[in-house]
Amino acid sequence: MKIERVASQIVRLPADEPLADGKTVPGATRDIVVAKILTTDGIEGVGVTFFGAAMTGALKVAVDELGALAVGSNPHHVEHIADKLRQAAGTSGPGGLFTLALSAIDTALWDIRGKALGLPLASLLGGYRDCVPAYASGALMRTQSLDEVVAAAGRLVERGWSAMKTQLALPGGTEPEQEVDRIRRIREVIGPQVRLMCDINQRWTVPEAFSIGERLEPYHLHWLEDVTTCDDYQGLARVASKLKTPIAGGEYLYGIAPFRQMLEARSVDIVMIDLVRVGGITQWMKVAGMAEAFNLPVVSHLIPEVHVHLIAAIPNGHIVEYMPWTRSLFEDPPMPQRGSMAVPSKPGLGLVFTKAIDAGFGR
Ligand SMILES: [Mg+2]
Repeated sequence: MKIERVASQIVRLPADEPLADGKTVPGATRDIVVAKILTTDGIEGVGVTFFGAAMTGALKVAVDELGALAVGSNPHHVEHIADKLRQAAGTSGPGGLFTLALSAIDTALWDIRGKALGLPLASLLGGYRDCVPAYASGALMRTQSLDEVVAAAGRLVERGWSAMKTQLALPGGTEPEQEVDRIRRIREVIGPQVRLMCDINQRWTVPEAFSIGERLEPYHLHWLEDVTTCDDYQGLARVASKLKTPIAGGEYLYGIAPFRQMLEARSVDIVMIDLVRVGGITQWMKVAGMAEAFNLPVVSHLIPEVHVHLIAAIPNGHIVEYMPWTRSLFEDPPMPQRGSMAVPSKPGLGLVFTKAIDAGFGR
């Protein structure tokens, strides 16, 4: 079996918020590069990447150009292909567009491997469990008013969610009291049993993380995420050692080497791995293994349709972030039911692009 063709296209999905029926900005889109790898045996693999923002067109070109270099290779040889593409891209890597593009190709290769071997990806990678917990993400944003965020949290509980994430570091430079009050109000409406996570998206300084983080401790956050600049490993480590609340981080790191620095510095209690920025499934599994060696749990970032397999495959998989940004790329995608996701049982990723997207690849 050889790689015969790699095709890609840009799909612009409406930036909707279906989990709690949140407000949307008319005309706003999420721009995703989707890829398909076709083999000489007739097996097709699907891959996804994004974070190109204004350079999404350049990201598509990167997928096409790297994909062309993979034609003729054995799709099982994921490390050989990754090395070939890395060499060909020269020093345009290791982060940035190169890694984002590699991720789409690597993910499609693993889909092909699963299909060729007749195994769901989760089984192929380790098969630790067949169902994983999932939390609602994207419905409780810092841009919402206090009333809006409290109402949305209530709707998530009504809809069966037992874990959900919100954000702090409110826009416009708020006071610590205002930040803490927001968590207090959300905790009041969801009750003591629901797991509540909170993302700072790198917006606090280390002193702010101490000051606000300590005041949040009575509200029992399940984790505080990206409390300060993602590569301030020592700053993160100071916060992680001082606060009782577990600190999560890792989604902003590209490739595998920065995770070594983060883990050696003891910057986080929970390792978050982003499939796209880490460089695909091959690299994701390496970071998961590193985290296991440091006795740390792993959580996912975005693309729950693929991450359900990865979190299910490993012994230290903790919970899947259910952010519904990519669900409408696929026919009948895996969806959470009352806070958990079953691993798809079809070979490979078990994902099929919608007919409209599939037609867009051409022949
Ligand atoms: Mg985050």
